[in-house]
Amino acid sequence: MAALPDLAAIVRGGLCAGCGLCESLAGVEHVEMRIASSGHIRPAIKGPIEPAIMERIHAVCPGITLRGPDAAQAGPNGTMHEVFGPIRALHRGWATDAATRYRSAAGGGMTALGVYLLESGKVDAIVHVRASEEQPLLTDAVVSRTAAEVRAGSQSRYGPAAPLRHVMGLLDQGLRFAVLAKPCDVGAIRSLGRIDPRVAYQIPYLITLFCGGAPTVFTAEKVVRYHGIDVDEVGVFRWRGNGWPGPTHVETKDGRVYDLTYDYVWYTPGVPWTYDIQFRCKICPDAIGELSDIACPDGWIMENGKPIHREAPGQNVFIVRTETGERLLAEAVAAGAIELAPFTVPELEAMHGDHAPRKMEWPARARALAAEGELAPSYENFRAEAIVRRNGPEADHAAEEGARRRIRKGKHKEPLS
Ligand SMILES: Cc1cc2nc3c(=O)[nH]c(=O)nc-3n(C[C@H](O)[C@H](O)[C@H](O)COP(=O)(O)OP(=O)(O)OC[C@H]3O[C@@H](n4cnc5c(N)ncnc54)[C@H](O)[C@@H]3O)c2cc1C
Ligand code: SF4
Ligand code: SF4
Repeated sequence: MAALPDLAAIVRGGLCAGCGLCESLAGVEHVEMRIASSGHIRPAIKGPIEPAIMERIHAVCPGITLRGPDAAQAGPNGTMHEVFGPIRALHRGWATDAATRYRSAAGGGMTALGVYLLESGKVDAIVHVRASEEQPLLTDAVVSRTAAEVRAGSQSRYGPAAPLRHVMGLLDQGLRFAVLAKPCDVGAIRSLGRIDPRVAYQIPYLITLFCGGAPTVFTAEKVVRYHGIDVDEVGVFRWRGNGWPGPTHVETKDGRVYDLTYDYVWYTPGVPWTYDIQFRCKICPDAIGELSDIACPDGWIMENGKPIHREAPGQNVFIVRTETGERLLAEAVAAGAIELAPFTVPELEAMHGDHAPRKMEWPARARALAAEGELAPSYENFRAEAIVRRNGPEADHAAEEGARRRIRKGKHKEPLS
C-alpha cells in the first residue's frame, strides 16, 4: 500500500481546504492554522505529529477524503437530485428578526438557526466564524454561547477561515454544539463522526451555505487598496450584509467609508481583484452542503430566468437534507424564528445553475490528478458516474484533458508556508 500523505503533501498538492480540523486533532503546539504565502489559511507544522494522530487526520481531512450522502437520506417524499443532492424539503425563507435579516449575508437563515439552537437549549455553543477585530480582513474561528455573539458572526467571509480549530477541545469538554460553516467544514465533521462516537450526540446540527469557493486574503486587500487606503488603516471590512446583498463595505479606523455594490465587485470587468479560489475548490464534490442538515444559500430574486442582485429584504433558500434538519426547521418556524415561503426544485435549478457546471467537472478533475501521478483525493458516494453520464463523454474527456494540462504546469501546487 502506498504511504499515506503527510500534511505537507496535502498542502503542497493543493488539496487542503483550510478547515482547521487537523490543528484541533494534533494540538496547536504541533499544527497551527496560519495565513500562508499563498494567501490561504493552511496548517503550519510546528512539531512532530504522532502516527496515530496522523491516521485520524487522514480519516477526516476533507482535502483527501469525503463520503457523500446516501439516497435514503432524502426520505420517502424527497428527491436525490443528481446535481443538488438530497432534498428532503425545500423552502424560501428568512429570519423573522428584522435586525438579523438586515445585517446577515442573505436572509439571516443561518444566524437565526444558530440563535434558535442556543436559546432553545438544544446546544450549549455554536461553532462559526467572525471578522477578526484586530485584522478586519481576516476571519476568526469562534465559539459562541450567546445570541449576541452568534449574531456578530452573521455575514459571508469570502476569504480564508478555519472554523474547526476548536472542535476537539469542545468535544473533550463534553459540550453539545452546532457547526455553522462551509460545506467542506461540515463534511469534515461528518467524517469525524465515523471515528469519534461523541460526534453523534455532541454535534447534533450542521448548517451550511452554498459555496462558490474560498478566495485568498489578497482579494480583500486589493479591494481595500482600490480605494487608495492601506490595509492597516481598515477598521471594518464586510463583503456584504447590512442589506441584501448589501455593499462591500470598507471603513477606516478614522471613520472614512467606501462602499461598492455586489454587482460592481463581482461582475465588473477590469477591476484589480479576482475571485482567486484555492485548487481544492476546483475539485470540490460538494460545494452545496449535501452533508449538512440544512443548506441555506441565497434565495435570489429572479428576472428573465436569471438571479439579480437588486437590493431587497434578504432571502435564503432552505434545503433540508436530513430528518434532523427537517425537525429543526419545523421547530424554528414554530418558535417564530424563521418564516418560510414555497419554493420548488425547478426554481432551485434556475437560481443556482452556476453550481451545475462545477458539479459536473469535479470527477474529471479529480481523475486528472491521479492520471498525472499527483496526490488525488478519495471522494466517494457523490454520484460521480451519474454526473459523468450527465456531462457526456466528450465534455468529461475535455474537462480531464484541460485539468491534466494545468496540473502538468503545476497550477494546483501550493507553497508549504
Ligand atoms: C466563501 C463563500 C462562498 C459562497 N458562495 C455562495 C454561492 O456560490 N452561492 C450562494 O447562494 N451563496 C454563497 N455563499 C453564501 C451566501 O453568501 C450566504 O452566506 C448564505 O446564503 C447564508 O446566508 P445567511 O443570511 O443565512 O447567512 P448569515 O446569517 O449571514 O450567516 C453566515 C454564516 O456563514 C458562516 N460563514 C461565513 N463565511 C464563512 C467562511 N469563510 N467559512 C466558514 N463559514 C463561514 C458564518 O459562520 C455564519 O454562520 C458563499 C459564502 C461564502 C462564505
Ligand atoms: S483540509 Fe483541513 S484537515 Fe485537511 S490539511 Fe487542510 S486544514 Fe487540515
Ligand atoms: S468550494 Fe468546496 S472546498 Fe472550496 S471552500 Fe467551498 S466547500 Fe470548501
